[in-house]
Amino acid sequence: MNSIDIGHGVQIAPMIGEDAKCGFIWKHPGCRCWFPVWLDERSTGHALAEGSLTDLSTITITGSLLCPKGCGAHGCIEHGRWKP
Ligand SMILES: [Zn+2]
Repeated sequence: MNSIDIGHGVQIAPMIGEDAKCGFIWKHPGCRCWFPVWLDERSTGHALAEGSLTDLSTITITGSLLCPKGCGAHGCIEHGRWKP
């Protein structure tokens, strides 16, 4: 998998789905799973605000990410870096 480390032990990898939907998957310390983040603001609240999924080190997304499993991991991605 073409994943990158964005700091604080958080990793992300690009994800291209059907219907031109796209986004990325992310993983953080404390949970072993990769969680999907689809970038479609209307349905998920997250959109690509800056950068490109072809270079994840450039991306900024709208909204913060909260662990769906409830481990408490919470943060934002700004310019390809995790901001807890
Ligand atoms: Zn978690």
